[in-house]
Amino acid sequence: MSATTVMERCDILGRLSEEPGMLTRPSLSPSMQQVNSLVAGWMREAGMSVQQDAIGNIFGRYEGQQAGMQTLVLGSHLDSVRNAGRYDGPLGVLVALSCVERLYRRGERLPFALEVVGFTDEEGLRFQHAYLGSKSATGMLAPDALLLTDATGTTLAEAIRGYGGIPEALKQPRWRREDLLGYCEVHIEQGPVLEAQQVPIGVVTAIAGQSRLNVRCIGLAGHAGTVPMSLRRDALCAAAECLLLIEKEACEYPGLVATVGQASVLPGASNVIPGEVRFSIDIRHQDDTTRARALSRVLEQIRASCQRRGITVQWEVLQESKAVHCQPRLRRLLERAVEASGYPLMTLPSGAGHDAVVMAELTDIAMLFVRCRGGISHHPDEAVAVEDVAIALDTLERFVLLLAQEAAV
Ligand SMILES: [Zn+2]
Repeated sequence: MSATTVMERCDILGRLSEEPGMLTRPSLSPSMQQVNSLVAGWMREAGMSVQQDAIGNIFGRYEGQQAGMQTLVLGSHLDSVRNAGRYDGPLGVLVALSCVERLYRRGERLPFALEVVGFTDEEGLRFQHAYLGSKSATGMLAPDALLLTDATGTTLAEAIRGYGGIPEALKQPRWRREDLLGYCEVHIEQGPVLEAQQVPIGVVTAIAGQSRLNVRCIGLAGHAGTVPMSLRRDALCAAAECLLLIEKEACEYPGLVATVGQASVLPGASNVIPGEVRFSIDIRHQDDTTRARALSRVLEQIRASCQRRGITVQWEVLQESKAVHCQPRLRRLLERAVEASGYPLMTLPSGAGHDAVVMAELTDIAMLFVRCRGGISHHPDEAVAVEDVAIALDTLERFVLLLAQEAAV
């Protein structure tokens, strides 16, 4: 199977969306169901047996030389952010699928099974909670996850029922530790480093740890005309100061990134002093200690700043994920596969989170990045070159065969 097929399939899936004129594919949605049924068809054509679990992950299994052998999992996610590009997620699933299809066409069986997974809800768009699909497949989902609600108040449990599944089935993970040989994910880089270095692919060293928080600044709403400046407790002014503190603090730590991507002002009228502001914080670094130190400094300063202004501040940590390091042996095999492609070997960390983070709780992981134009992702302008996809596909295939050689010894 060729990279052209992968590109065509990315185009086909890219048209399946919940919002007209843009690609928005939340989990457990009709467009997700359509995507899964297309992918399931391609998996069957590639000699795989297919299963979908309750939360909407899809799995294609290509048996090894004997039934029930240990499994190498390849894949990525099929959900998207709002107004997304076509490649973040689906590219990794479809490259993996084409890799298995090549083996199947040659009638080649390996000393282990291969599973191609299309995870759902990696992005956390619908329930504001990332990795729901991979956490479910690995048995890492918190027991109260079924109570998570989306913007319309629908719980995860209700969404699963609406999708034809049984919420209680989430208690049965797809894999146990002893079932797995490892996990390898191909993904667009989502950053500008490979392009700047003029190399098509790169081997990931580690995935940055991440904290996501929601903050509420509560002041006092009042009439914009009658309350003097000296007597105001303006929640938006306080929040504005917090945002700049976050930016300043982030710049103090090399490699640290901090973002406020969401903010809302209440009551939200031009003639009313803002009584409450809610905003998000997303903070990431490859080193967990650095991230924890930066976050606690940020929160300390937010508290002090709000206190000075008579603003009550509350925060809630929505998510914490530790930095994850790719496993040295798998990483070396992937590096050998890159070297055999004739392109310079480039290694780099990932600032973005991936399902590999969750898979690392259960098994060894490796990741391969593909150059994307302008480093753009989470945007309709996301683009990859078919030549780069061809190199990634060859490299993944070579990696799988190198692992098979090693397993056979
Ligand atoms: Zn992704």
